[in-house]
Amino acid sequence: TLVLGIESSCDETAAALVDGDRRIVAQRIASQDAEHAPFGGVVPEIAARAHAERLAPMIEGVLADANVALGDLDAIAATAGPGLIGGVMVGLVSAKALAMASDVPLIAVNHLEGHALSPRLADAALDFPYALLLVSGGHCQILRVDGVGQYRRLATTIDDALGEAFDKTAKILGLGFPGGPAVERVAKEGDAKAVPLPRPMVGSGEPHFSFAGLKSAVLRAHESGQYKPEDIAASFQQAAIDCVTDRLRIALAQMEDCKTLVVAGGVAANASVRAALEDVAQAHAMRFTAPPPKLCTDNAAMIAWAGIERLALPDFIPDPLEISARPRWPLDPDAEPVRGAGV
Ligand code: ATP
Ligand code: MG
Ligand code: FE
Repeated sequence: TLVLGIESSCDETAAALVDGDRRIVAQRIASQDAEHAPFGGVVPEIAARAHAERLAPMIEGVLADANVALGDLDAIAATAGPGLIGGVMVGLVSAKALAMASDVPLIAVNHLEGHALSPRLADAALDFPYALLLVSGGHCQILRVDGVGQYRRLATTIDDALGEAFDKTAKILGLGFPGGPAVERVAKEGDAKAVPLPRPMVGSGEPHFSFAGLKSAVLRAHESGQYKPEDIAASFQQAAIDCVTDRLRIALAQMEDCKTLVVAGGVAANASVRAALEDVAQAHAMRFTAPPPKLCTDNAAMIAWAGIERLALPDFIPDPLEISARPRWPLDPDAEPVRGAGV
């Protein structure tokens, strides 16, 4: 099996070829960090334009790298949402055109499903069901993964995502964009006990998250002039980790049959987060697995892999060429909305 994956939902333009033996046969990725950095965040118009300019040569490039023709593919998998709609449309329209021209099945992939299944690309021993912490720029959820397409959300954030909290902390501290890796780097030089910061939601009987109050406290600490940026970064990272481990404790009690704790999404690239989760897993007698950092942040290999997982389903049917891009697309459509007030 050989699948072409295309990713363009945020600010990474990426294409990859992945085979059924979990081999990433070829991959190319172009980050738009330089384009967005002057604005301190991703500008949707600039992103869509950059994807449109880069994607076609990039797809040609990965096919050439692997010496593969479109007709050799078993499917073309593209992110169809959720994400910035302009960028998603660039990737999905390209995939449709190639699928039509070469008579290869189209698979419209939920970007979050790409993140959710990425640990199985990296770890052949990871079986369903597993407990998943999905921590990215737009999402912060705890899910039970029972199979491909079978996700039950146990927890979400009532305000900011964890990656967003890292990005905002970086902005407050003047560390630039993207913020997560910068906060991690600077935190290594700081004292995690130096700045008293809140742990929102810790102690709550429901496993949900909240990071808006933590971000405000970071801003106040910074504006007080009393603390060094590296101490604020380290204290923020520790507070965020304390929130995550406490929330997981509640959620894991509701999925005791899951033998593996899994983390995915951009924040899963953070070494301190990974180390803390390894401890949580050990305390619960669970195995822990996380994709290598380059498979945590946005990439096309995880989209191709989600396509391979879909292809392997007994009831697989390709998606119709009319399928639309979706700015919003929850992994668990049955999840109850979570009210922010009074939690
Ligand atoms: P979503 O997947 O929810 O649509 P996204 O695709 O923008 O959002 P990802 O690419 O999965 O998000 O992750 C990007 C986020 O991960 C950013 O918020 C970034 O700051 C954060 N991140 C990346 N590396 C690290 C790190 N080393 N430490 C902490 N956070 C990180
Ligand atoms: Mg990015
Ligand atoms: Fe993502």
